[in-house]
Amino acid sequence: MDQLINDFNHRIRSASHAKRRLPFQEIPAAARTNYLDEIFRHSCQTQNRVIYIHIPFCNNTCNFCFYNKQKTDNPELVEHYCQTIISQIHSLASFEYFESAPFSAVYFGGGTPTSIPVKHLASILNAIKSSFSLADTCEITVESTIAEIDTDTLSILKNAGVNRMSLGVQTFQTPLRHFLGRKSDAGVIEEKIRLVRKAGISNLCIDLMYNLPGQTPLGWQNDLILASQLPITGCSVYPLIDPSSGIDNVQFPNLKYPEISAEYNLFAEADNRLGNRKDWIRFSPVQYGHSELGKATYISSHAQYADMLAFGAGAGGRFGGLQYLFPPVIDKFVEGNGNFINSALSLWSIDSTFQKLKNIFRLSEGLAISKEEYSGLAIHFNDIIDWLISKDMVALEADTYELTQAGRFWAGNISSLFSERINNRLQSE
Ligand code: SF4
Repeated sequence: MDQLINDFNHRIRSASHAKRRLPFQEIPAAARTNYLDEIFRHSCQTQNRVIYIHIPFCNNTCNFCFYNKQKTDNPELVEHYCQTIISQIHSLASFEYFESAPFSAVYFGGGTPTSIPVKHLASILNAIKSSFSLADTCEITVESTIAEIDTDTLSILKNAGVNRMSLGVQTFQTPLRHFLGRKSDAGVIEEKIRLVRKAGISNLCIDLMYNLPGQTPLGWQNDLILASQLPITGCSVYPLIDPSSGIDNVQFPNLKYPEISAEYNLFAEADNRLGNRKDWIRFSPVQYGHSELGKATYISSHAQYADMLAFGAGAGGRFGGLQYLFPPVIDKFVEGNGNFINSALSLWSIDSTFQKLKNIFRLSEGLAISKEEYSGLAIHFNDIIDWLISKDMVALEADTYELTQAGRFWAGNISSLFSERINNRLQSE
């Protein structure tokens, strides 16, 4: 571990940080419409694609939060915002690109989607269903806090077609929950989880966090034991993001991280307890779950650069060799006539070399890559893979390269090595 700390200098705790530096070519505003129109008129070449809806509203003030959101205190703005998304969805409905293949997942993230009247989420979902083709097994997820779960909310979501909930628990320790800005006590968590199941939404994932100020190893162990006793299908485990990592609005200015070896122990505790739980498997370095239901299609597709059609302020997506980002400010997002193609998004073309090399992230973000998949990539990454094997972060098991537990801990750094290599390739071409 000491040697790895020296090798890596610091731990990259979020996958998105590891990939920020990829140099894609920005498309000038005047040319955007033509680019989009051209792509949308042709069939989609990929079978793996998902939809993301960003709801940038929340009633909480969690001090670890870095999401793009604002208070849910303006019903007209909320309605206008949701109507803009619905109009944008309808504006794409007739294009060949969206008719030519079904979507495998729809994800409502935030903010907290359930902080707005959930009839708006149902309306957006109706617009999606009437405009795009969804796979029979399409996973439809809504994120929520524990406090915002109630019978009426669940009934509306279930009737609209939602089949998966992702609940932000973070910790079962009430004082720590309140310190973080969470409103509900730990005592109600299990009750709310049972309410979700009773409503007929049986695919249910929770989030837990470690590295929290005041959290002890024993407290973390208890959180994991409690999580493993709940009737859930999945659990995602994240470290608290370091404010010095470039995320400005995390409000822990004097945050003291545990020593990296202590942080590794917290990670390993979760990796062992959840990864080795009966009938559960690891899906990614941060995600564990039941072998059939627990795999979050949206999250794993997103991490591995599947096509993603995203809507909402600050939401970013990609398709057909393009990457785009909507303006993060809500007022800016709702400007215009609700036509996706003419909206104020920024657009980049994704380099074709990157398209060929991106499967290497299957290893660092999806845990493994088969020898066969790797064979076409070996010429670009062999020295890195050899080094990772020599450091016991990657092992060759049967016909697959797999992350070891140390590799799972340093997965963000490994992604960063891959993205730097891709970056260098792109710049040298
Ligand atoms: S509930 Fe979620 S979106 Fe809202 S402040 Fe807390 S972490 Fe951020």
